[in-house]
Amino acid sequence: MTVDQNQFRLLPSVDELLQSAAAQQLVASFSRPPVLQAIRSCLEQARAAMRVGASCPSSDMLLQEVSQLLLREQQPHLRPVINATGVIINTNLGRAPLSRDVLQAVEHVSHGYANLEYDLEAGERGSRHTHAAALLRELTGAEAALVTNNNAAAVLLGLSTLAMGREVVISRGQLVEIGGGFRVPDVMRQSGCQLVEVGTTNRTRIADYAAAISAQTALLLAVHPSNFLITGFTESTALVELVALARQRGLLVMEDLGSGCLLNCERYGLTHEPMPQESIAAGADVVCFSGDKLLGGPQAGIIVGKAEIIARLARHPLMRAVRIDKMTLAALEATLRHYQRGQAETHIPVWLMISAKPERLSSRAKRWAAQLQAQGIEVRVQRGESTVGGGSLPGETLPTTLLALDADRCALPLEELARRLRIGTIPVVARILRNSLLLDPRTVLDEQDDMLVQALATALRP
Ligand SMILES: *Cc1c(COP(=O)(O)O)cnc(C)c1O
Repeated sequence: MTVDQNQFRLLPSVDELLQSAAAQQLVASFSRPPVLQAIRSCLEQARAAMRVGASCPSSDMLLQEVSQLLLREQQPHLRPVINATGVIINTNLGRAPLSRDVLQAVEHVSHGYANLEYDLEAGERGSRHTHAAALLRELTGAEAALVTNNNAAAVLLGLSTLAMGREVVISRGQLVEIGGGFRVPDVMRQSGCQLVEVGTTNRTRIADYAAAISAQTALLLAVHPSNFLITGFTESTALVELVALARQRGLLVMEDLGSGCLLNCERYGLTHEPMPQESIAAGADVVCFSGDKLLGGPQAGIIVGKAEIIARLARHPLMRAVRIDKMTLAALEATLRHYQRGQAETHIPVWLMISAKPERLSSRAKRWAAQLQAQGIEVRVQRGESTVGGGSLPGETLPTTLLALDADRCALPLEELARRLRIGTIPVVARILRNSLLLDPRTVLDEQDDMLVQALATALRP
């Protein structure tokens, strides 16, 4: 196609646009360089469009585009999304959402200074580990507690401190990969321990452990194989048996619980998830678990156990590299307070979601449906299942009601609809199953209901 060069002369110059009142307002908010760059790129786009036959846009239209481009580019890269997947602890979407009280606690200690490592009574250097320790002791029954940046760090610290250069005995059925590259055998190698596998994938007996102990053995390790199930002909060794064997032979027992759950999952219609307080009662020397899985708090690794052992971990040089920061500590302490006050189910988002009443989920899905149908959008509701996720409770589901958009009733291919939802002003993440796009109210916060309906209506607009 030939291009009429005269057409291009109708476009305003960079300078004309920059001097306009609208652009000057943008300069006041964003500074000059990004506005200049946005003007150049919008003009370039207009020229490209005109080369293939588009008409010349007005200055107002160009300025509008400049403003939109800037808003898109200047929004934070890490930002909130609406999780409509029904997977409660969704690692890709930031795991556990935090309560308002928890966020307030973070703001409270982060806006100014805090006694992070300062003993106010003595007026001298203190330890950051004291802040959550008493609560963790109270809630788990352990003698001592320590917190790290995450549970992977807790496992690394535990193994490095207690078994570097020595042997660690573990069941073959527990040599798991948690996801995100966290494989138990790799972490052991990294900690300088020698792995001694015992038993078989599906069955490991206490005699298998006993036979594998040598003069080089330091530790018996139990790992909760959190994200998969072995069913059928299985046998595993109870922690109490491991502890008894370890005592007899002068060894230590460490347990990586993965999720670690302070509440009894059975009360919520789920199967039992191992609880740190049970492991402590069974006599484990060190027990570690995540802060942002079923605990429902910030990313953290929690280590509880015998005072003398925890003190060794705290003194290890790695501790400095895996230490927790003050915002996280504040969030963790506030989360633990919810448990202490018996408010976990009413205040911790993960537990609010797990314990959501089926009638309430159904009425929310129906309300979304009615609001969309009123705008002429064809949707329906159906029974479905939510999952806990986060590598906990594999195979366990919670009954829910889903909003469904069917491929044969949708103006867009479902993949395209899902993409539009993801890239909208408020990104919405949904799932596609067979020929329907499904949205689960369980993981959508109440205050996001209107936004979600709005996002769907916008995504479906021609
Ligand atoms: C999730 C998990 C980890 C890693 O915990 P992070 O807090 O994500 O570092 C380690 N071990 C087990 C068994 C897990 O399930």
